[in-house]
Amino acid sequence: MRSRKRIRIQRKARKIGFLGKGAPMPSHERSEIVESLRLRIGDEVVSTDEHDLSRRQCDAQPLQSLLGKLFLSKPVAVVFPDSPRCVAEALDVCIEGKTPAVVRGGATAGLGGVASVGKTIVIDVTTLNLIVEIDAKKKQSTVQAGCTWKVVSSALRSEGLAPLAFPSSGIESTVGGWMSTGGYGIGTLQHGCFHEMVSSMEVALPSGLLVSAGHDGLRYSMRSFARTEGQMGVITRLTFDVRSLPEQKATYVLTTSKLDEATEILQELTALKIKPFHIMLMSGNLGGRFAPGIGDSSRHIVVAHFEGNQKDVTRVKDDLRHILKKLEVNSEWIYLREADIHHFVLIEDLRARGGVLAGEVMIEPSGVGVLLRQALWKLKHLGEPVYQCDVVSDERVLMRLAYRKRGARVQAVERDVWSTLLLGYLSLKLGGRPYGIGLWNTPFAREILGGEYSQLKIVKTETDRLGIVNPGRVFYLKMSSGLPMPCWLLKSFARVARR
Ligand SMILES: Cc1cc2nc3c(=O)[nH]c(=O)nc-3n(C[C@H](O)[C@H](O)[C@H](O)COP(=O)(O)OP(=O)(O)OC[C@H]3O[C@@H](n4cnc5c(N)ncnc54)[C@H](O)[C@@H]3O)c2cc1C
Repeated sequence: MRSRKRIRIQRKARKIGFLGKGAPMPSHERSEIVESLRLRIGDEVVSTDEHDLSRRQCDAQPLQSLLGKLFLSKPVAVVFPDSPRCVAEALDVCIEGKTPAVVRGGATAGLGGVASVGKTIVIDVTTLNLIVEIDAKKKQSTVQAGCTWKVVSSALRSEGLAPLAFPSSGIESTVGGWMSTGGYGIGTLQHGCFHEMVSSMEVALPSGLLVSAGHDGLRYSMRSFARTEGQMGVITRLTFDVRSLPEQKATYVLTTSKLDEATEILQELTALKIKPFHIMLMSGNLGGRFAPGIGDSSRHIVVAHFEGNQKDVTRVKDDLRHILKKLEVNSEWIYLREADIHHFVLIEDLRARGGVLAGEVMIEPSGVGVLLRQALWKLKHLGEPVYQCDVVSDERVLMRLAYRKRGARVQAVERDVWSTLLLGYLSLKLGGRPYGIGLWNTPFAREILGGEYSQLKIVKTETDRLGIVNPGRVFYLKMSSGLPMPCWLLKSFARVARR
């Protein structure tokens, strides 16, 4: 009798899983879904290799161990699609087998958006990496979604063109990944959000259909796929506007020991008539990574980068001098040679230095000083603060905060979810919002998606009834055991930590 009861309890526990071990998928079901995938899309694009599976369990940054136990499980298989049709068919098989699918780009977003929660099939879009067409006359390019920004930039350069904007993670991050997340970065101050540059897309829907998405309607419109992190389907191809290579470029840098002074300069730069291509404020300890010999940990660095026609770019020198005179700043602008600048932040470099990526938030330029002061104070307790603020539009600054763990070994780089939540909460208090959703910012999804949140949730339920694509995040939070994680619990943590 007792043993029968024990068996019943064990069966139940298996169903819901225990502490994130997840209900183990019976081996016959596991092999069934893999077999179905192989039969449908071919052996060569489906991998069950241990190395492939464990590398695609979460984002590029490893996760703190407790959260890893609660949320992550090894995927059942990884699909390396060789065509958009292959993605659609893989989704179709997942629906038939009621198996969740996780969409993965460069895995740089770092918020758990690509984490394998439960026994999943990971669709690694980075193999869809063709430059389909570059139309120099129309100034448009069509690329597959898994192309990295570095590849796109060099393909465009060979045709005398350049992207209007790109994320600073562009060495590894993909075009589809940027469309699915925030879409703000280098160049968006001058040219607007990436989402506005995209004129059409091809998307594999959770139902297995391959459709075109334009600007009209909602269900298959751009609005459903921008910022929703793969919830509505997998982007396979995008057509977007590009520009001619600029006639001239100029980068000016200034260092100061006063944070107030640096944030005032930032606001003045944002209001300039000749808009900079990009403006940055960063901690002195990042200076050397941006350009050799710039800054030290006691200083703050302001960068103003201009691109455009020769006349405008030459004229900005006077405007920059005028700002310093107006604010009575006792520092000088230093001109940097193009060859010395790293526009793409080297992610590997950040990892190798033992930095902990804490999170990104969006805030108005006027709130930068206050938030930085509060955040830096908190981060100082954890290690050496590292920050980078990118002015990405007239009203938005993308603030990336991290710290270097004291005595961190090179390998010991973990995603600090608690700091991410805390910063998200601090930014909301100051009228900003967290940037990117993934798993860890799911408690703030309503604020991040704004007025469209409820509509998008309806579209998700209509188009993905079984909740197959990227389950357990953005609209609700679920652990790999299948149990829900209450968002209020994580929010309360942030509230308490703020004190
Ligand atoms: C050093 C550093 C600098 C960064 N700078 C910026 C910046 O300047 N601007 C910025 O916005 N972000 C920045 N980020 C964050 C991140 O790099 C971007 O959000 C990037 O665009 C994510 O692209 P990815 O290919 O890595 O996407 P992933 O991390 O692989 O995925 C992110 C989310 O999008 C979904 N997704 C990915 N591809 C697709 C697809 N084809 N179809 C549907 N859904 C998909 C995934 O499921 C996931 O939910 C930075 C990160 C780092 C580490």
